Amino acid sequence: MRSFSYVVARDPDDAVREARQTSGASFIAGGTDLLNLMKDGVQQPPRLIDVNGLGLAGITESSTGLRIGGLARMRHVAEHPAVRNRFPVLAEALLASASPQVRNMAAIGGNLLQRNRCGYFRDTVAVCNKRVPGSGCSALEGWNRGHAVLGGSESCIATHPSDLAVALTALDATVHVLGPDGVRRIPIGEFYRRPGSTPHVETALRPAELITAVEVPRHPVAARSRYLKLRDRATFEFAVVSVAAAVDLRGRFVRDIRLAFGGIATTPWRSAEAEAELRGKELTVARIEQAGRALVRDAKPRPDNEFKVELVQRALAELLSDLGGVR
Ligand code: SF4
Repeated sequence: MRSFSYVVARDPDDAVREARQTSGASFIAGGTDLLNLMKDGVQQPPRLIDVNGLGLAGITESSTGLRIGGLARMRHVAEHPAVRNRFPVLAEALLASASPQVRNMAAIGGNLLQRNRCGYFRDTVAVCNKRVPGSGCSALEGWNRGHAVLGGSESCIATHPSDLAVALTALDATVHVLGPDGVRRIPIGEFYRRPGSTPHVETALRPAELITAVEVPRHPVAARSRYLKLRDRATFEFAVVSVAAAVDLRGRFVRDIRLAFGGIATTPWRSAEAEAELRGKELTVARIEQAGRALVRDAKPRPDNEFKVELVQRALAELLSDLGGVR
């Protein structure tokens, strides 16, 4: 690991000021992803700015929704009564993430910014456009079982790893940031970038911007929301496929629905096409199957990950059948 300098920020403005002063500086909170990347030589920030003491760890509920501080720990959010009772998809996504030890340490902002799990990205000997722009992508013709079937490009097909981001996408959350240009509010649907020809640009964040909070609007779908994650082992594992579903039902009539998916795409993947098959209609097995087909209509699988196309449809059917009592 290369040497770096370290400073403790006094307040959010101080953190942003520090970040502006050193090109490539990085904020650090729990460090559960960043320190591994540094040890492996994948990221080499010359300066770390410790943001743990900024007073941004609060979780508050109001008549308009939920506000989660960017430095709230995953465990605290998952255990919060308002989250568990009125936004259950968030609690379930968090509890399906990582391990208890990591959830104790990792902050919400860091969770949203964690880097992808493509093995080639984390192996500095391998060719990878995301790590070294323009160098090529080893996964296209290599081992791509864990990679994306939606949202990829000829430059990168790595999946986004955050379960929480998928749940927040289903609930139309907004990411609050503070940076040199002041405060910005970024809808989560615009926060993550598809790789296109610039896979190293992963989010809408500008240099020196800090995630201060995430806001989740109160909405009738949020109370009946669930997260289903399928993975290769029961804990400390990333999604092979995952589904976040939030639905407002009257009997079996779908008044409104939000569907987002993980493990299958380069960003947390909201499917307006699948939602349209169900919104304003009676929930039936046949319609759920139609929604699944709409979800994967534009899928571009590779030889090792073709199974995800069927698996995600089955996961969607399982979760919606459970939520709606449809069998
Ligand atoms: Fe790198 Fe993306 Fe290709 Fe993986 S899929 S090797 S992260 S460019």
